[in-house]
Amino acid sequence: MSVKLSEITGLIEKVAPKNIAENWDNVGLQVGSSRQLIERIVLTLDVTADVVKEAVEKKADLIIAHHPFIFHGLKTLAADNEKGQLITMLIKNDIALYVAHTNLDKAENGLNDFLAQLLGLADRQTLEPSNPENFVKLVVYTPQEATDKIIDAFGKHGAGSIGDYDYCSYRSSGIGTFRPRPGANPYIGEIDAITSVDEDRIEAIVPRNSLKQLLIQLKNSHPYEEMAYDIIPLENGAFINQRGLGKIGWLKKPMRSVDFIDYVKKTLNLKALRAAGKMPATIQRVAVCSGAGADLIGLAKAKKADVLITGDLKYHDGQRAQENNFWVIDAGHFGTEKCVVDCFKQIIQAGLPENCPEILTAASSQDYISNY
Ligand SMILES: [Zn+2]
Repeated sequence: MSVKLSEITGLIEKVAPKNIAENWDNVGLQVGSSRQLIERIVLTLDVTADVVKEAVEKKADLIIAHHPFIFHGLKTLAADNEKGQLITMLIKNDIALYVAHTNLDKAENGLNDFLAQLLGLADRQTLEPSNPENFVKLVVYTPQEATDKIIDAFGKHGAGSIGDYDYCSYRSSGIGTFRPRPGANPYIGEIDAITSVDEDRIEAIVPRNSLKQLLIQLKNSHPYEEMAYDIIPLENGAFINQRGLGKIGWLKKPMRSVDFIDYVKKTLNLKALRAAGKMPATIQRVAVCSGAGADLIGLAKAKKADVLITGDLKYHDGQRAQENNFWVIDAGHFGTEKCVVDCFKQIIQAGLPENCPEILTAASSQDYISNY
């Protein structure tokens, strides 16, 4: 059985909306069509020649990758260079390519949360919250017989979603007045006569980016010719936002730092890791940032982490850690991000029937860096 590509990418974008990706990034569908039917997916961190060959051999219809394959503007698709060759190979074999990068890094339940969970961190918070969702309070006044219809339209179109609850609204009752002017076609009342009506005031919190669509739907559901409503800006977004880079949380029990090194190696399946700065005696509060997160050393220390686990640590990042009296573990860019395939798998499988489509992990996706 096959599934439309847009259904699969829709599941990913529900967790990791494209609009939270960094401005310099390039995410989304890079090759293929969202209408394409997909029977077999290959998941990978990077798109390499080996991964494309593997996808062809395994007769996959879709590659889902973390790192963008098409990053900067392509000037040619000529097969004289590797990029052109691989794109040609994908197109000839009807293989689509989809990328979720910094949007997945920053998603509340994205890669960093997956990594933090893998390391057994509880009470996870975002290390560097960003992209606060903008909320407004929408208040709509309606004759009481239409209240249920309006509340239903609120809930159906994303208003009143708070954590694990939706359809959250509040209503109060009062009397509304109005005078229809000549030319009006009132639902209740006469032209030029002031009319009083028992009305409900219905209010709910709405993400600002859903507001326009919601207002269109509400106007369709509302019996009045002119729907009276208020839009009130809210500050909630800055407080409930859990999008952003990195996560910070707690190990169930404190661990000796020397044991923690073994624990990280074992959990992330690493032959070796590097560390810099001052090693504390024990570790319990742990910050993680997949990929290259040395910029978060200061923030991890300020949030009282005992260690930051990241990748791509440079010599002077180590110096900064030392000067800050803080411990950083470099588990490698690949080491902290290879779990992205399992993260993708979890997101896709949660929304689709079992084994439909078939999901494979690219065996040929390897670390570019070797430790000897
Ligand atoms: Zn990366």
